[in-house]
Amino acid sequence: MSPVAAPRSTSADPIAPFFGPDYGALVRTDPQIAGVLLDELERQRGTLQLIASENPASPAVLAALGSVLSNKYAEGYPGRRYYGGCAQVDAAERLGVDRACALFGADHANIQPHTGAAANLAVFAALLTPGDRVLAMALQHGGHLTHGAQGNFSGTWFETLGYPVREDTELIDYDRVRDLARSHRPKLIICGATAYSRLIDFAAFRSIANEVGAYLLVDAAHFAGLVAGRAIPSPVPYADVVTLTTHKTLRGPRGGAILCRAELASAIDRAVFPFSQGGPLMHAIAAKAVAFAEASRPEFRNYATQVVSNARALTTALAQEGMRPVSGGTDTHLAVLDLRGAAGVAVRTADGVKVTGREAELRCERAGIMLNRSCVPYDSAKPMVTSGLRVGTATVTTQGMKEPEMHRIAALVGRAVRDADGSVAAEVQKEVAELVDEFPLYQA
Ligand code: PLP
Repeated sequence: MSPVAAPRSTSADPIAPFFGPDYGALVRTDPQIAGVLLDELERQRGTLQLIASENPASPAVLAALGSVLSNKYAEGYPGRRYYGGCAQVDAAERLGVDRACALFGADHANIQPHTGAAANLAVFAALLTPGDRVLAMALQHGGHLTHGAQGNFSGTWFETLGYPVREDTELIDYDRVRDLARSHRPKLIICGATAYSRLIDFAAFRSIANEVGAYLLVDAAHFAGLVAGRAIPSPVPYADVVTLTTHKTLRGPRGGAILCRAELASAIDRAVFPFSQGGPLMHAIAAKAVAFAEASRPEFRNYATQVVSNARALTTALAQEGMRPVSGGTDTHLAVLDLRGAAGVAVRTADGVKVTGREAELRCERAGIMLNRSCVPYDSAKPMVTSGLRVGTATVTTQGMKEPEMHRIAALVGRAVRDADGSVAAEVQKEVAELVDEFPLYQA
């Protein structure tokens, strides 16, 4: 293990609220871990966060996460626990469930899943038996591991088939999905992805699911916050079940949740507990409740709309830097950029060498820009290498940045990606620091 520097401040008052009630106790009892927390705060404040699945939670959310609710065992559901002393955590969970139902217009919500993957596992458990067939977007085309990848429960215990995007438009081909559904006869169809930037036609998926008698799961892990903020259409009226993560565009604590129609409520609840989870994380559940309340405010609608406007502006500006937006653009918070370029305009280094996704990710990190490599549709590069990058605007929008800053960011990304020998990394990093200083995170 590498040694970790001691924290710079031992009083730490200005940042205490972000680490729970007594950050001073952590500094005194475990200066090494306190140092890690401070270093991470400094990293988040001092660099540019373009990772599409991240978003800094509010101090109120962090306060609930760092609270005494972490001490409580509460297996079961409000009013039906296997432990005494649950009145307070019952109140937190009821508030969270009610707020989630109101926010998304859902009949039922289960807010206990520890993560998005845990939420998807529970849905499979509620609706399917091992060996059943599933149709979902192929991993290489933007789908998620839990939608049928080898090595994941979904691809191991179920007969999954991946639908591709069209090679010419890089959009979902609904006719192809229908044909695959007719021949594969899945019991579950999944839409919603990790690296797909366009709106999904939920009505088309509903009609395909109806035709073959399949359940429809919409995995809204990425775009749930945009739905909550009314920036994009809601899948709730069309899906049997919607899963989400609470920590991406929704800007809550790390965690998952499931929304479903009333008739599936008890199957979903049993699939979460006792089938796939034990004691719920009551501190995280309280923090989810805080996030649902925050997301129901008018400010959050403005935020969600701005996230999408920023993503469009950033994508257009990155295209001018020679990075081809997959599918031609974005309707959401994220974009996938093909570094091989369109019409031969690849992003190349000074010595003319093409940049892989992995190399571009490393070059950006070196310059203080955090983003991640991504497969592009029909990518010939290996998944660990890739030919693309994925960017998102949830964090920079939380910081208050708007379209003019997206142009500055694209120019910085372009310079970092082309910087083969690291000669301009320090200069880009300095400009990144100046930019994020204008839009500080977690101001005391
Ligand atoms: N579903 C989709 C579409 C995702 O993109 C992700 C995470 O990136 C998940 C599920 C899983 O979420 P978690 O990382 O919380 O398990």
